[in-house]
Amino acid sequence: MAIKVVKFGGSSLADAHQIQKAAAIIKADPQRRYVVPSAPGKRFSKDIKVTDMLYSCYALAEQGIDFSRELADIQARYDEIIAGLGMKEFSLADEFAVIAENFQKRSGKEYAASRGEYLNGKIISAYLGFPFVDAADVIFFRSDGVLDDMKTEIALRERLKTMENAVIPGFYGCGADGYVKCFSRGGSDVTGSIVAGAVKASLYENWTDVSGFLVADPRIVEDPAVIRTITYTELRELSYMGASVLHEAAIFPVRSAGIPINIRNTNAPDEPGTMIVPDSADEEVSAYTITGIAGKKNFTSIHIHKDMMNSQIGFCRDVLGVLADRQIPMEHMPSSIDSMNVIVDSTYLNDIEDELRREIYKAVQPDVLEMEHGIALLAVVGRGMCRTRGVAARIFAALAHARINVSMIDQGSSELNVIVAVKETDFEQAIRCIYNMFVNSVSE
Ligand code: ASP
Repeated sequence: MAIKVVKFGGSSLADAHQIQKAAAIIKADPQRRYVVPSAPGKRFSKDIKVTDMLYSCYALAEQGIDFSRELADIQARYDEIIAGLGMKEFSLADEFAVIAENFQKRSGKEYAASRGEYLNGKIISAYLGFPFVDAADVIFFRSDGVLDDMKTEIALRERLKTMENAVIPGFYGCGADGYVKCFSRGGSDVTGSIVAGAVKASLYENWTDVSGFLVADPRIVEDPAVIRTITYTELRELSYMGASVLHEAAIFPVRSAGIPINIRNTNAPDEPGTMIVPDSADEEVSAYTITGIAGKKNFTSIHIHKDMMNSQIGFCRDVLGVLADRQIPMEHMPSSIDSMNVIVDSTYLNDIEDELRREIYKAVQPDVLEMEHGIALLAVVGRGMCRTRGVAARIFAALAHARINVSMIDQGSSELNVIVAVKETDFEQAIRCIYNMFVNSVSE
């Protein structure tokens, strides 16, 4: 039988009612054999995530301040869930006694944060009747803090091979020193992906509180369309350009195994969500032609002109060398015969702009060196672009009609995206007009 690994995010498990929804989803499909829970998230917008409560509580413990009230508040969150689920025989009292003791012993911030998933996993395991597997026994980090993927895969496979079902809490594992270690925030996504890769799942379902990824940011475009299918590469492009989606590291374990990820909504389980699929030439293209639009503000364009620049061997390298020495990453670098532009994130220029100018002058003696601030970059991403005529024409027509000036154009060599630079003040309008051009003119 095919195996599905299902990960539920914090908002999907924030209270008893949400956990009941998640349980119904799990029980509705026997292929959903391995469950990766997050810690309880926010129940309402001003609520505090249990992970954050644990960090604050442990900060008190570390300073030698009494943390009993804060820990009791966390216990109350779980007790409310247990009561709401009607689990009369179940209690986490012993677990909380151990946690209090370990906090006194200063067991570490990461241990503290990991208890959110650990305790939620205990509840969900008992509620579903699925055995509990402590992530610290099956997920391992190397001494440099990076996941030990070989050791982890062997341990997970060995452990799960005889288990019909299991609950494996997300977010943490065991560090090389034997202590609990966490992924970065949002890391339960990564655990789900690792488990899916290890058991060679047919699908990794990632249940959250939205019905998939959206074609554009809903804070900019009203009620944007959902992306039905996106490839891993497109997703990388969109997330790099600011679309906040899955944890970045969650892509790799499933991508290498060719396992698709399905983003689903716990509150609307009938909706198909977004499928993230391996890159393949025959993947159907969206009716909108483009897959998504994302972008970021706060860039600076460094414009450098020098007559006969093109015949000065190593000119670009010398400019980039100055940036590299200053640890400034380069985002884009369009060039022409006698000039080049380097686009960089403006935060790197704070306080060093004058020095940087001097260093570039010294390195390449340009005729002109100008810095233009307040630039926004936006990426129009879509695997269909390379096969469709007129995509660039439509992007620029949309911008021209909206009277938006484009200061830089960069089409990635993969022909998967077109990146344009506009003034920050035009950013939102630019996204809206491109969205309207591609999405509002088509009904899927
Ligand atoms: N609970 C952790 C966090 O809040 C990890 C996760 O939810 O994925 O970041």
